[in-house]
Amino acid sequence: MVSDSQHEREPNRHEPPSQQGSNDASSFDQQVHQAIYWQQAPASGADPVVRATQYLGLLRDLSVEPRWIALAHVADPPGEALSWIGQHIHRVNQQLNAILRDLLGCFETVSYPDMQIFAAPIAPQAGVDGFCCDGPSPMESDFPNGTFRERSTPITLMVDAGRIVPADWPGLVAHELAHAIARIPGHGVEFGRAIAHLCLAQDLPMPSPQLDAEALSYWPPCRHNPQPELFWLGRSAF
Ligand SMILES: [Zn+2]
Repeated sequence: MVSDSQHEREPNRHEPPSQQGSNDASSFDQQVHQAIYWQQAPASGADPVVRATQYLGLLRDLSVEPRWIALAHVADPPGEALSWIGQHIHRVNQQLNAILRDLLGCFETVSYPDMQIFAAPIAPQAGVDGFCCDGPSPMESDFPNGTFRERSTPITLMVDAGRIVPADWPGLVAHELAHAIARIPGHGVEFGRAIAHLCLAQDLPMPSPQLDAEALSYWPPCRHNPQPELFWLGRSAF
C-alpha cells in the first residue's frame, strides 16, 4: 500500500466539497476531498436523489465530455437509478479506491501523481468502459476501451462499474491506471510498459510483447456484464 497522507484529512460529512473553481489554486485540496467524500455513507436523512444529482454533476465537471455521464440508457425517467446511486455509490467507490490503492502499491510513490477514482454511468455512445483525465489542456482522443485527456490534478479515473463484472474490476482499473502512469494518450510503448508492470504485479493476464496498440486497447481481458443497467438500479450484487 502506498503512502496516503494526502487523503487523511477529514472532509465535512454533511456537505460535498465545493465543485467550483476546479482550475484555481485550491482545486487540489477540493478534488482530494471530493474523492473521499464520495466514499462515505450519506448523512442520515440525506435525500438520495439530491445526493445523486450532486454526484453526477461532479462527474460531468471532471469528465472528458460531460455528456458521457448519463442515465438515460439505464432508466428513463432516472428516479430509481438516482435513488440507488444516492444511497450506495460510496460502497462502489470504496471498492474501486481499494483496488486503485492496491495497484498503486506496485509503483514507487514518487513515480506517479495523485490519483482519484469514481464509479460513473457512462453513456453507450461514448464507446468506452472508462477514461482518465489529467492536466489542464484540452488534449483529447478516443480509444475503444478508454481515453485520456489532459486536465487539472489530481488525475481522475472514471470507470463504469456496471459494464464489467465485479471480479474483473481490477483489470478495468488497471487499464485506466496504465493510461495515467503512461502520461501519453494511446496504447503505445509507454502504455504497454505500464500495463505489463501492473499485470505482472497483480497476477492479471500478461500481455504478449507482440500485442499491437489495438490489442492493448482491450487489455487485460474483462468480462462484460450483459445487463449493466441492472447494476445502476441496484439489482445486481457486487
Ligand atoms: Zn485504453
